[in-house]
Amino acid sequence: MQKVKLGRSGLTVSRLCFGTLTMSPLQRGMTPEEGAKLLVYAYERGVRFLDTADLYGTYPHIRLALRDAPDYVISTKAYCYDEKTAQEALKRAYRGVGRDFIDLFMLHEQESLYTLRGHEEALRYLADQHDKGHIGAVGVSTHFCACVNAAPRFPMIDVIHPLINAAGIGIQDGTREDMEAAIRAAREHGIGIFAMKPLGGGHLIGGSREALGYALNSPLLDAVAIGMQSIEEIDADVAAFEGSAQASDKLEKLRHRQRQIMVHDWCEGCGRCRDRCRQHAIEIVDGRARIDSSKCVFCGYCAKVCPQFCIKVI
Ligand code: SF4
Ligand code: SF4
Repeated sequence: MQKVKLGRSGLTVSRLCFGTLTMSPLQRGMTPEEGAKLLVYAYERGVRFLDTADLYGTYPHIRLALRDAPDYVISTKAYCYDEKTAQEALKRAYRGVGRDFIDLFMLHEQESLYTLRGHEEALRYLADQHDKGHIGAVGVSTHFCACVNAAPRFPMIDVIHPLINAAGIGIQDGTREDMEAAIRAAREHGIGIFAMKPLGGGHLIGGSREALGYALNSPLLDAVAIGMQSIEEIDADVAAFEGSAQASDKLEKLRHRQRQIMVHDWCEGCGRCRDRCRQHAIEIVDGRARIDSSKCVFCGYCAKVCPQFCIKVI
């Protein structure tokens, strides 16, 4: 497994990053034991980088995995906006994964220069924690070109985790080419880039060989996070990242991985899920949530806010 430097951050990671959203209660809902087993399996195949979030609920899975996979570089992210919320989120991360050091801590779902300015107190706190040796690097995650364009104005941001894929699915304010231009400019400032959703949240699974080919061949992306839910997916993705001749066959067998989202009958039409969805994929029709799966990137964030537990990503 190829190791790469994540820009100027000082972090060295495997190019394949294990995205843990797909094993989380927001999606497959694996137990910590089930999730840890996959994380350890990937580690044994050379994966040394994993991504989680305060929101995902996968800290227990990671904590368990670290017993047998101690050298994982951990990236997490949270919705903190000031010193207090950042301090609390960082403490949850330390406690959650059972370490007193987080390699990469990011602000989750940033959108633009304005949201970055609005969260600057949290960024400054995180930068201070970095200087004190409690965090390896500070970053931001985003679905917006505007955020990638603005990030270099904040010297504490060493890493960006942007949404990008061959079809540009899920980019909120532009095309794949717009995002590439923004990433190119950020890289000129030495910012490390690790991409999210190379398979468009699941839409590109049918053509995953081509979709992964785009991500793997892009000189703009230092590392790439992929959600993996089974041994077969790990084997296929590791093979693709290692350029193995068997990668095509292994990926071909995974066409059935196509994700789906469903809303149970007991939806009360409260609209919380619609307000949470940044992809504008949800409408309330006849008193029930209706999801346009062509717009959905299967993040599961709407499920988290549903008071009736009606939404399921499978
Ligand atoms: S949050 Fe839940 S109950 Fe409310 S509209 Fe959405 S699916 Fe229905
Ligand atoms: S509908 Fe739900 S799962 Fe789909 S993009 Fe919106 S928040 Fe994410």
